[in-house]
Amino acid sequence: MALTPMMQQYLEIKKQFPDAILFFRLGDFYEMFFEDAKLAAKELEITLTGRDAGEPERVPMCGVPFHAADNYIGKLIDKGYKVAICEQVEDPRTARGIVKREVVRIITPGTLIDGSMLSEKDNNYLVALCQAKQDLYGMAVTDLSTGLFQVTELSGSGAGDILLDEIVRLSPREVLLDQDMMKDARVAALLQGLPSTTLTPFRLNLDQAGCRQILQNHFGSDKLANYNEKQALCLAAAGLLSYLTETQRRKLYHITEITCYSPRAYMMLDGIARRNLEITKSLRDGGTKGTLLGVLDKTRTAMGGRLLKSWLEQPLINLSDIQARLDAVEELVHALLLREELAGALKQIYDLERLTARAAYGTANGRDLTALLGSLEKLPSLYQALQQSRSSLLRSISRQFDTLDDLRDLLSASLADNPPASLRDGGLIKDGYHPEVDRLRAAARDGKAWLAGLEAREKEKTGIKNLKVGFNKVFGYYLEVTKANLHAVPDYYQRRQTLANAERYITPELKEYESMILGAADRLVELEYDLFTEIRGRVADQVQRIQKTAALIAQIDVLVSLAEVATARGYVKPRLSDEGVIEITEGRHPVVEMTLGPGRFVPNDTCLDTANRRLCLITGPNMGGKSTYQRQVALIVLLAQVGSFVPASMAKIGIVDRIFARVGASDDLSSGQSTFMVEMFETRQILDNATARSLVIIDELGRGTSNLEGMAIAQAVIEYLHDVVGCRTLFSTHYHELAELEGLLPGLKNYATAVQEQGDQVVFLRKVVRDKASKSYGVHCARLAGLPGHVIERAAELVQQLEYRQRAAQEVVAGKNQVAVSGQEQAPALFTTEQDWLRQEILALDLTNMTPLQCLNYLSGLQSKL
Ligand code: ADP
Repeated sequence: MALTPMMQQYLEIKKQFPDAILFFRLGDFYEMFFEDAKLAAKELEITLTGRDAGEPERVPMCGVPFHAADNYIGKLIDKGYKVAICEQVEDPRTARGIVKREVVRIITPGTLIDGSMLSEKDNNYLVALCQAKQDLYGMAVTDLSTGLFQVTELSGSGAGDILLDEIVRLSPREVLLDQDMMKDARVAALLQGLPSTTLTPFRLNLDQAGCRQILQNHFGSDKLANYNEKQALCLAAAGLLSYLTETQRRKLYHITEITCYSPRAYMMLDGIARRNLEITKSLRDGGTKGTLLGVLDKTRTAMGGRLLKSWLEQPLINLSDIQARLDAVEELVHALLLREELAGALKQIYDLERLTARAAYGTANGRDLTALLGSLEKLPSLYQALQQSRSSLLRSISRQFDTLDDLRDLLSASLADNPPASLRDGGLIKDGYHPEVDRLRAAARDGKAWLAGLEAREKEKTGIKNLKVGFNKVFGYYLEVTKANLHAVPDYYQRRQTLANAERYITPELKEYESMILGAADRLVELEYDLFTEIRGRVADQVQRIQKTAALIAQIDVLVSLAEVATARGYVKPRLSDEGVIEITEGRHPVVEMTLGPGRFVPNDTCLDTANRRLCLITGPNMGGKSTYQRQVALIVLLAQVGSFVPASMAKIGIVDRIFARVGASDDLSSGQSTFMVEMFETRQILDNATARSLVIIDELGRGTSNLEGMAIAQAVIEYLHDVVGCRTLFSTHYHELAELEGLLPGLKNYATAVQEQGDQVVFLRKVVRDKASKSYGVHCARLAGLPGHVIERAAELVQQLEYRQRAAQEVVAGKNQVAVSGQEQAPALFTTEQDWLRQEILALDLTNMTPLQCLNYLSGLQSKL
């Protein structure tokens, strides 16, 4: 048996989109069939049914109503699927044979534009990465919901790693990856660490000229002049653009600029440092709570929120750029009025970037344009406030600021006050904007008045008191007369409908008005729709101007937010320089400080200097505050280079090219590597890549192996960082013996977290002092953690025994061959009772009168008895 024509059409279309779930429009539903149906039914928890398709067996089918489709599409995208939307592209009423259908758009995780599927303060990145040849990589990144399009090309050894770090930074929803690169083990490992990223393999069968052509067609040749020769860049950018065209199937007017950047122009942070410093994602659940972003984000607009995040993710390394931001923040800290005026205006500005993107995309509705208008209305006051500013950055923002008056005037003159969400119900256009709209509205209004008049006139003429004019969809307007009054109906009434106790009539005059009223209503809806799309098109024409203003607004928002946090939390303006110092007085950890609450955080000083204090070795008990202190220094440096004030009473920061932050022996079980191997791998990354301008933080090293080896590795790493790299380093360790290195390594200084003993209680002072730790207080920590009392007691007893033994061993080494065990200094039992004889034997030895050989012989005798 043959398939029905519609099923044939379905299969024909489905064949072209094997890796997407096909939403096939049938009337008011999107239907899915075969495997797509089974998959969607499971993922969306909707009923799987069947449909007669001309074959003996019904084909699996499931469907969702078209008006609720967004929600279902969102769920599928969230799970990493792609959805191809297939619409009826001709009117079913006029179609002959089967209705023509086409895929109008493929929605993928990286190509979302709909606000409801996006998070306001996050970009939705789509990245393409490719390799042109050995050590030559290109990357392109877009956010279709805002119109961002950035490209970069890197060459040389390490280029690939830097771009992989970039991908971690962007944490994209989707990555297009050159098929060859997918085989790379590092790439695979990286993508494993980004669970919410969908991977799309791609291969662009184009040469350099072909790629250039694609880019020129979209951006125009003048914008490409600088990039033409960059092979890898063009490959990635053209690949990305082709993918967008293929999935979106329309011209993307809102992607107007192609911006080239270099990751080397920013402070470098690898995935490990980003994770450990919890800059924008918490280690606990990946959210922003408990992160630096969480503390800093007081932005009022979505654009500002996204920009703050990218500022924190890309601290600067250029002194004058940093200074410009700092000066602007400083101005806003002091100029309270200016700040409040800016904040007041910002509060009422919607997501201009996404609104314009939707306008350019052709999906913005009346409410979107109303939101745009509302935002544009705030621009003059923002601009006016900016006039008072003095700092160079704010001045320059003010100079570039376009208040978009023409657009505001257009929208305020044309848009109705509260337009409906639908574009097919009228009510979009304001009175007075277009004469024909006014005329049609008047006609509709007049018609209604005329009808009211007609009712009165006919009552009068016929003497029927309860005669009334009504309307229904089938018969249109009519005159209704109850049965009791039928005798008074005049000749020229024509009967249309009989009800139980009334008759309905029309008159030629009534029909004439009816066609005028109804015709006017239809024409009005049609005309309003046309006018609306025309206005939307005029907004789209200005997309570039709106985007520029939106970017400036985002900057203002971030600067105001930084100033507010600085004021509220008592941050100070750091002094930046290109010298190799980090000097901080009363520094605090921005996040821990906030979690602890006012007055509870103990501030600490820092003094690092590449010349003679480049490595701080920090010892001290667990829970003493070592990790917090190290991270605090890293975060203060990072904040300073973002252009923010910092939590300290004074900070002098010599610009850092890169921060490394290796923390603890994190159990990376998922990757299947042993903890120790991970630790060594991360350490290698640091030793390979750190420069004299870097800041290195190592919080414990060598825990995963034996004490002896661990300590040896730690010392060797310290020596290498100190002697060879020469970077600023904070190194914490539980190997207290390493403190002996002070004096041997001139740039190494010992620090410890101070502790106060009160009886058998221990108080962590959380103060970092110029000292070395003498005790670990591990047992104390165990007690704090609530281990059972007898375990604690036993552990304390064992500590005493072991310490005694160690001391004894040291004394032997030091040549005191008499282990004094007199009555007062009672040694704790080293042996169990069964071995007491051994103890007696040893104690009985007269060592002073024995030769070494005698000792040896004696020992061997003992050994044979054991
Ligand atoms: P360590 O690395 O030495 O084991 P942490 O840095 O993890 O210690 O600190 C342990 C706890 O002490 C943290 O959870 C934090 O709440 C608290 N803490 C650390 N530093 C300070 C400080 N400077 N002031 C107040 N509390 C602190």
